[in-house]
Amino acid sequence: MLVTLLGTSDAAGIPVHSCDCATCQEALQAPWLHRSQTCILIQSDEASILVDMGSDSHMRNLHTVNLDAVFVTHCHDDHVRGLFALRWTKRLGGLPVYYPRGSEAIELFDDPMQLRLHTLKDFEEVTIKDLTITTLPLAHSVEAYGYLIGDDQTSLAVLLDTGRLPETTFYWLITHRPTLVMIDSTYAPGLSSEHHLGVDEALETIDDLGVRRAVLTHIAHHNWPYRDLVRYVYEQDGARTVVAYDGLTLTI
Ligand SMILES: [Zn+2]
Ligand SMILES: [Zn+2]
Ligand SMILES: [Zn+2]
Repeated sequence: MLVTLLGTSDAAGIPVHSCDCATCQEALQAPWLHRSQTCILIQSDEASILVDMGSDSHMRNLHTVNLDAVFVTHCHDDHVRGLFALRWTKRLGGLPVYYPRGSEAIELFDDPMQLRLHTLKDFEEVTIKDLTITTLPLAHSVEAYGYLIGDDQTSLAVLLDTGRLPETTFYWLITHRPTLVMIDSTYAPGLSSEHHLGVDEALETIDDLGVRRAVLTHIAHHNWPYRDLVRYVYEQDGARTVVAYDGLTLTI
């Protein structure tokens, strides 16, 4: 599987308009450190799917991708905004969009146009060509799902947005051992909240799950500057865990 992180920020993006914090200033000096709202492209031998489309700006990377489906983690603006533009897709038969039941209360779903909407239940499995996608309940301020996305050899767990993982999801992941975990790291080391993980909690979760590769993403501007964060994560976790940036591509 080829995994491309097209967007790796929280709702605000980086740099934030008129912000003089160290993280935004670093991004102004180094444009490759700009972050846009969540969007992950996953491509297997047969299928191409998106997890979230948080910004219209991702469209420029998707024009030549024959998308099979979009899986929405939850219906906060920074995870669905780009879907508004995708409503005009000319894909034959429309574009299937899967999302957690109970999160329909946004205007996007009043007029989905070419989007073919499907609600999901906890631990439901969906098959898209050679990929199996399983829903994993998360701890967020609205209904939110993580997804385990696997072919017959490897699997990727996308875990955002979330506070500490619910027990059911945690033990399910322990049993299924994903090859790679991509996890919410909104806050700087030492910080966290009920609805988002900080870097320390994310690293602890990675350790507890016993996975061998991990990516920290959904990074807010009040997190540390990229260079400091990379150094800190390497000191804490060695080469196992990397800090995401927009455009990061991984093979699993
Ligand atoms: Zn978010
Ligand atoms: Zn800032
Ligand atoms: Zn959210």
